[in-house]
Amino acid sequence: MSELTNHCFRLRRRPEGLLAKADLEFVQEVVPSLQDGQALIRTLWLSVDPANRIWMSESHYYLPPVELDAVMRGIGIGQVVDSRRVDLAPGDLVNGLVGWTEYVIADPRTDVLPFTVLPATQPAPPTAFLGPLGHTGVTAYLGVHDIGKPQIGETMVVSAAAGAVGSVAGQIGKALGARVVGIAGSAEKCDYVVERLGFDACINYKAPDWRDELEAATPDGIDVDFENVGGQVLDQILTRLKVGARIALCGLISEYNSYGTPAEQSDRPVRPNVAQILLANRAVMQSFLVLDHADRFAEATAYLTDLIARDQLTYDETVIDGLERAPDALNQMFDGSNTGKLLVKVG
Ligand code: NDP
Repeated sequence: MSELTNHCFRLRRRPEGLLAKADLEFVQEVVPSLQDGQALIRTLWLSVDPANRIWMSESHYYLPPVELDAVMRGIGIGQVVDSRRVDLAPGDLVNGLVGWTEYVIADPRTDVLPFTVLPATQPAPPTAFLGPLGHTGVTAYLGVHDIGKPQIGETMVVSAAAGAVGSVAGQIGKALGARVVGIAGSAEKCDYVVERLGFDACINYKAPDWRDELEAATPDGIDVDFENVGGQVLDQILTRLKVGARIALCGLISEYNSYGTPAEQSDRPVRPNVAQILLANRAVMQSFLVLDHADRFAEATAYLTDLIARDQLTYDETVIDGLERAPDALNQMFDGSNTGKLLVKVG
């Protein structure tokens, strides 16, 4: 194969707060030639995940931080364009850590996580494997089924309800017979959550009276919290827990921009007395990580595929065009510009 030019983002500086232009550099490089045991993958779609921001900090968040000057880590879908591996053939669509780069060399001897080949016949377009049939959908499935376990008629609250994980978590809650209340960052998103996703109610946490609205929407208290946000949203939910409540601690996006910032300069909230609240309500708060459950993906995607087929699960995407806009896309996730799964179209 003739010499190929690649464009990619290299991490030059650890961000403080939102990403700044100098944190990442968009560089042009030559793709090295393939060695035995390697495959060349062209990135088609990049998944924009809150974890991207954490990986740029010095925090070890289930994977080591991205080293300075290394290509930025990112989940995505790519297509094999050349291969000297027996398990990957040109044309295969793969899901994995493609990175913020047009081309990546997949080598099982050095890759942090293995690539998976998408099924030859797909129940949905490839981007669904980054959304409801991918890591975000499986996250929702695990948190609801293993920890939240909503029973018919129980009240389940989902924060970041219009996003990739939250939208699926709430729809699973509905399918299981719960009364589902979303929390999202605008009146338009709340309309979307109720009208398109079928939640019973949705609270705009940016409205001045949102705490009263949450109380009105959960008159008997909260049995299940699918927690994506943390901060003041979680603090308020904690005040409404019922005896025997379950909190699936999925993420704390409101706090990620302060990761790596010294405590004295951070505006991270001082939690209410969580232990006291859990004790008083005999409640359970359990965190989980989707990457610990590779053995559950088949079960989860079969369940989610079935929900889509039954029209009980719908999903949307916000697509940003062009790899060079990936840093803007990540910042948009923190100002709430996305509805559904946030993707960057690369190829
Ligand atoms: P989303 O698609 O939900 O996008 C993030 C959303 O979070 C934004 O659209 C915004 O919506 C909301 N948000 C951003 N900043 C704040 C803030 N300061 N306060 C309140 N809401 C905010 O992202 P994902 O679905 O990919 O991720 C959702 C959560 O799930 C994250 O916490 C993530 O870390 C976690 N996660 C956990 C996994 C696990 O294995 N445990 C795996 C994957 C994700 P709005 O307009 O409503 O504010």
